Amino acid sequence: MSSASCIFCKIIKGEIPSLRLIETKYTYSFLDIQPTADYHCLVIPKFHGAKLHNVPDEYLADILPVVKKLTTVLGLDTNNTPDGEGYNILQNNGRIAHQVVDHVHFHLIPKTSDSTGLGVGWPAQETDFDKLNKLHAELKEKLAKYDKL
Ligand code: 5GP
Ligand code: ZN
Repeated sequence: MSSASCIFCKIIKGEIPSLRLIETKYTYSFLDIQPTADYHCLVIPKFHGAKLHNVPDEYLADILPVVKKLTTVLGLDTNNTPDGEGYNILQNNGRIAHQVVDHVHFHLIPKTSDSTGLGVGWPAQETDFDKLNKLHAELKEKLAKYDKL
């Protein structure tokens, strides 16, 4: 499925140029045009869905192996210690969550310094087991219904 007005659908179809990387039956990847770090890549399903839940599973199942392959191509797989060079995988859904292009995309962003790559705001709350237990109970009810569908 494709959208005539979507910039990433146009990239997949070759109507807009891109710096293509790995391409499979389900997935297309290319360099981000306004990178936050060198080698900032985008990996997208060849299916027009604005948010993750809009994309069929077979497309989603193909994406992470492509991301993993790119980590190898970029040499990001050589550091098996917690320190030193790392990387972030980012997938935004909705304006409030910083999504600008309404076609699902996974960012693969090398993190080599504090000043490049992804910066993260993380408003962690104090641990509150009463609240957590309530939320858990609510979710278990929803999951039980979901399993019956
Ligand atoms: P979002 O904020 O929606 O998660 O990220 C959208 C990303 O798409 C941005 O990092 C932006 O630089 C990238 N982008 C937007 N338009 C184009 C384009 O025409 N070509 C490429 N290669 N990247 C684009
Ligand atoms: Zn699209």
